Amino acid sequence: MTASDPIHFLGIDIAYFIATVLFVVGLRYMSSPTRARSSIWIAGVGMVIAVVATLTVEGDPGRRVLIPIAMFLGAGFAFFQSRRVSMTDAPALIALYNGLGGGAAAGIAFVELLRASEHTSSLRFFAVVGALAGSVAFAGSIMAWIKLRSDMRRSVPFPNRQVVYLAILVLMFLVGLVLASSNTAHPVLLFLFVLLALFFGISMTLPIAAADLPVLISLYNALTGLAVGFEGYVLGNPAMMVAGTLVFASGSLLTRLMARAVNRQLAEIMYSGFGVGGDVSPSVRKEGFINEVEPHDAAASMAFANRVIVVPGYGMAVAQAQHKLRELTQLLDERGVQTAFAIHPVAGRMPGHMNVLLADAGVPYEKIADLSAINEEFSHADVALVVGANDTVNPQARTDETSPIFGMPVMNVDQAGTVIVLKRGDGRGYADVSNPLLEAAGTRVLLGDAKDSLQELITSIKALD
Ligand code: NDP
Repeated sequence: MTASDPIHFLGIDIAYFIATVLFVVGLRYMSSPTRARSSIWIAGVGMVIAVVATLTVEGDPGRRVLIPIAMFLGAGFAFFQSRRVSMTDAPALIALYNGLGGGAAAGIAFVELLRASEHTSSLRFFAVVGALAGSVAFAGSIMAWIKLRSDMRRSVPFPNRQVVYLAILVLMFLVGLVLASSNTAHPVLLFLFVLLALFFGISMTLPIAAADLPVLISLYNALTGLAVGFEGYVLGNPAMMVAGTLVFASGSLLTRLMARAVNRQLAEIMYSGFGVGGDVSPSVRKEGFINEVEPHDAAASMAFANRVIVVPGYGMAVAQAQHKLRELTQLLDERGVQTAFAIHPVAGRMPGHMNVLLADAGVPYEKIADLSAINEEFSHADVALVVGANDTVNPQARTDETSPIFGMPVMNVDQAGTVIVLKRGDGRGYADVSNPLLEAAGTRVLLGDAKDSLQELITSIKALD
């Protein structure tokens, strides 16, 4: 050890401390949509500092070259992929990246458990828990990514699901115990352990449908954080410990909030699941009568209203209609109409999807209210304008016990004087169930791409002057 070593190590500790502060500040900033963009930069700078500090303590010259190459390839791929991705594919990509984080943490655990003799039993225990959490998050997130990108939306239940879970958990517990307590490596058992955890992640996600999926994605996010945090202990890397713990804590909180927002318990989701065994078979679907409306009639009913509440959904993201929507509400505001935006917690395809889009369009934050804050207000509104939302406004969730979305709180748009729905045709929502709202007497459907329809509404309102 040279004289400069203590200074070097002090410098590294200081670097980790600064990185930690930046992670915390970044997370704090994320709670406000107006500061969310800068929070990414702040946490990103923290991550760069942590990575550079970690590289300077890496003694192996080969790894010092390989690590930056791997990072360059991974970061380059992600950078170009993310620039190209549409807003509608972003949630699936986030699920994928989250899964890769869990997979990376599980990979570290795998390597460290192969070097079992170099670690104490408590560190081996941490590695086992990290391998479990990381593998489940990896396999589950990849399944969620497939479910979000493909038509595989419905529940894929399998018989005796709970018995299968219990059997896998017991087996994993026993194998994990051997891996943690033995100071010699057991490659075959380790391989079996990871395979079981991967299978558990897949089997946990397959039966999940409708509003349960966002809750589960959020849970996988928390598990990735847990895996990274535990592997941080195994490697003695403070930045990993802190970053992992922050992701675990915030992910767990988000999971709890999302579960509560859709009126579910986590255990209930994993035990029964929305849509499990409750799917509506095609034979009982019936097409009803939809009242279409012309743009100028819809525009007039909003322009002469006292109160209009807008409910955006996934279709707004597909149409990229948030800027037109903002323009429309500004126009209504100028006419003295009171406007507000009502956001359902699972609207769109990722937590906060609608908030991000509306913030992007410059909608004032105080105009946005969540489900619990605004749901009572619909009965006082003259018009509820539904822009590409379906499941989140489906009254079937309140009334039909056989529905896969039964029990999920939905926006009470049907209590408004008139409901105007913007959609392209008879497309269903994510849960793929019929929506009686579209056939209700007080509902008018303006058919077309949401962005085009909003432009027509804007033109019609301007023509009223
Ligand atoms: P839905 O997915 O239920 O419905 C979207 C509606 O938008 C469809 O009826 C579709 O009808 C319409 N639409 C699609 N494209 C356009 C367009 N260009 N212009 C106008 N309309 C369009 O949306 P919600 O937001 O109400 O519900 C979200 C669903 O996604 C929930 O079931 C939720 O559980 C699920 N989910 C949410 C996640 C999250 O984290 N938020 C993650 C995973 C799933 P049409 O084709 O006729 O136009």
